[in-house]
Amino acid sequence: MATESARTDEATDLLQHLIRNRCVNDGTAASGQEQRSADVLRTYLEDSGADLETYEPEPGRTSLVAKLHGNDPTAPSLTLLGHTDVVPANPDDWSHDPFGGELIDGEVWGRGAIDMLNLTATMATSFRHLARSGFRPSGDLTYVAVADEEALGVYGAEWLCRHVPDEVHADYVITESGGFPMGGADGTTRLPVIVGEKGVYWCRLVVKGTPGHGSQPLRTDNALVKAAELVRRIDEYRPKAQLHEAWTRFIEGIGLPPDLAEPLLDPDRIDDFCDELPLVGLARQAHACTHTTMAPTVMQAGTKVNVIPDRVELEVDIRSLPGWDTADVVAMLEDVIGDLADDVTIELDFGAPSTSSPIDTPLWDALERVSRLFYPGARTVPYLTVGATDARFHRALGSVAYGFGLHSRAIGFEQYGAMFHGIDERVDVESLRLSTEMWTALAHDFLV
Ligand SMILES: [Zn+2]
Repeated sequence: MATESARTDEATDLLQHLIRNRCVNDGTAASGQEQRSADVLRTYLEDSGADLETYEPEPGRTSLVAKLHGNDPTAPSLTLLGHTDVVPANPDDWSHDPFGGELIDGEVWGRGAIDMLNLTATMATSFRHLARSGFRPSGDLTYVAVADEEALGVYGAEWLCRHVPDEVHADYVITESGGFPMGGADGTTRLPVIVGEKGVYWCRLVVKGTPGHGSQPLRTDNALVKAAELVRRIDEYRPKAQLHEAWTRFIEGIGLPPDLAEPLLDPDRIDDFCDELPLVGLARQAHACTHTTMAPTVMQAGTKVNVIPDRVELEVDIRSLPGWDTADVVAMLEDVIGDLADDVTIELDFGAPSTSSPIDTPLWDALERVSRLFYPGARTVPYLTVGATDARFHRALGSVAYGFGLHSRAIGFEQYGAMFHGIDERVDVESLRLSTEMWTALAHDFLV
């Protein structure tokens, strides 16, 4: 049987391969081409004895499903869900080649090293060795490496959950991210488990004006001037904070000193506190976790320099809190638009509400038990991720879905946050060891 260090080497090697495959998803159907990584993983798992299946809803957009059948149909089943696509990276901004997968001073560099090829690789390594060691789970253990997570899962998790739900569905699902150790003031290690995610609403505000000659701007009806006012209103909009259970339990659980914890738990103080906190990364997270946010991101206006524009399209990225639906989002936009309502129409390009799973479940308890093998005395704390993940498709099928992995203390929580879709993304080999061993321990704890 392979030693721990051999398994770590395999996970490291696999991660390097996945990074070098450069499965960059730019949102177009022909991008990603995750087939390359599905092939690598299929070859890697070929000798595991598990059932392997691939699905290709669009040419090159391949997802892999590997399954170890349980011996007790009444026992809970578990799916480990990783994605193989990554977002684009501009090499000019990076200290090392974002697609080189280089191992430098104990760290693997490259796009996807944190989001989430690290976990996709360690899940595969653990799955292979569990299968080869003769491990037979009570409930099904499924490993899924999906395409297209970074563009709403249309050719990945959403497709699989719609077309072959029996192959990928499980009572419990684990995907990105979580498991970054945080030290509390009392010395206890806290490990965030992602229990929910904010909703996503991508809106288009169409601003109408009247065309005219650019040489005579006085008292014209310029759509761009009105759109600029709209952008200003969006930026200045300050809805009141809403503190939901995952947030309060997270802040109460991580053991912050009272001068930080108290304002973060007080809906009347949190806004001023975030405005003034010197730690910008924490301020942004705290604000995003307690508000439905709006970011104006794309604007298209005008046709020619000497023509007063009669039409502007402004795209707004809205991320909603638990409990918000489309009507709430539209009501907020109408509030922002105010007296410009006659000139502005709202178009919804994409909408998916926030989803979450219950916090106190057998999997929650198992994650805490298993994590303590690596971080003695550690406590898991719930966290709401502000980004969207594939967990929502599995929650819609009735699964309890969490985001978790296990990481070393080498890279801090703030740094991890900045590396998601950011520059100089990398992961230390010790984190790969921890995650690989944690998945194996979890299977032995939860699936027997
Ligand atoms: Zn991801």
